[in-house]
Amino acid sequence: MSEAYGPGAARAGGGSAAEFAGLAKRAAELDLADPLRAKRTEFLLDDAGQPGAGRPGTGTPVIYLDGNSLGALPAAVPARVADVVAREWGQLRIRSWTESGWWTAPERVGDRIAPLLGAAPGQVVVGDSTSVNVLKAIVAGVRIAQSGAGAARDEVLVDATTFPTDGYVAESAARLTGCALRAVEPHEIAATAGPRTAVALVNHVDYRTGRLHDLPGTTAALHAAGALAVWDLCHSAGALPVGLDVHGVDLAVGCTYKFLNGGPGSPAYLYVRRGLQPRFDSPLPGWNSHAEPFAMSAGYRPADGAARGRVGTPDILSMLALEAALEVWDGVAIEAVRVKSLALSDFFLECVAALPGGSALTPLTPSAHAERGSQVALRCADAEGVMGELIAHGVVGDFRPPDVLRFGVTPLYTSFSDIYRAAGVLGEVLDDRR
Ligand SMILES: *Cc1c(COP(=O)(O)O)cnc(C)c1O
Repeated sequence: MSEAYGPGAARAGGGSAAEFAGLAKRAAELDLADPLRAKRTEFLLDDAGQPGAGRPGTGTPVIYLDGNSLGALPAAVPARVADVVAREWGQLRIRSWTESGWWTAPERVGDRIAPLLGAAPGQVVVGDSTSVNVLKAIVAGVRIAQSGAGAARDEVLVDATTFPTDGYVAESAARLTGCALRAVEPHEIAATAGPRTAVALVNHVDYRTGRLHDLPGTTAALHAAGALAVWDLCHSAGALPVGLDVHGVDLAVGCTYKFLNGGPGSPAYLYVRRGLQPRFDSPLPGWNSHAEPFAMSAGYRPADGAARGRVGTPDILSMLALEAALEVWDGVAIEAVRVKSLALSDFFLECVAALPGGSALTPLTPSAHAERGSQVALRCADAEGVMGELIAHGVVGDFRPPDVLRFGVTPLYTSFSDIYRAAGVLGEVLDDRR
């Protein structure tokens, strides 16, 4: 924990009104000492003086704690998108594929994301959805694992707690490659991997509980077993250091509309470790991944490098909105984001523990920092109804079945005062229901 934020405290059980009120001062102090606080002005939120400020009909600012589902809009994006539409498309038309850099955007934007993932340039390509990139990564990973001495590897492991789409696609990818699919708890993947394992697909952070899984240890164990590691970074990229290169991760995927603020449906990314790129045999070898796409030849010959992960024509409007959104990361160290993220979730847990009605809430968020992503998950009776009331009162988080209230903390724009006020509204909603 950095000195800027000071130590946090988390404990269970209900507190008192006076104890909770005392935390308002702490929130203000934490905000004042926050080295990232100026970043908030680079986003369009409901703060005073910003367009659309306030909840419709009340003027009360909305507290947005759902940036782990859809990141807030960076202020630079609307003008950039307007320019792409009016000038690059409207006036330059087809010339923009070269003159505006549209054709090379998937690799260029990938290189912009790479430092946030701990990846050197040339290994990340942007395009398609996470689901599609999961398919590319698993099939290509199995093909690599089965080459040469690995011919007998016929098993794909999948994180048993995975976000559903990864599990659905992994099942199909296993069938396509003649493998059996085995669902394994993430902390048991290291011990389960064996001579038959080709690939394991693991979520870095559990979308429901916010639990952070052991990427370095699991990757090393998979390698020791001769298998490849595919990580889904949807809930970690932009929230905490990932260290893809340093931990030798083979393949990784992630979306860009959560902590990377790329906007609804912004394209996902695929990381292919440089050393594996020559062996990356895509199940979707579209013309954009051809060595000479404009030769229009009948036979397929893959491009070198990250471009091998491309498929068809990129989604330029979304891709360039994402590129503009990524400017908010200029000058930001992901390590500093992590320090603030942990301080925010610690403070949230501290506020919940101090609420008089706090005993109605059971934190699912791991107390150990080493096991925590960038969200607070609270188990609660009728969580769906409670979240509906929170949203009606201007606190936006989300509900995950069956009984989880989920609040994302996004350090570039979430303040400690947001957390204090959100916890206060949560306390009032619970009081009203009793
Ligand atoms: C958000 C999320 C996805 C989303 O997949 P899309 O294909 O981009 O819709 C996939 N996996 C995980 C773990 C996620 O959190």
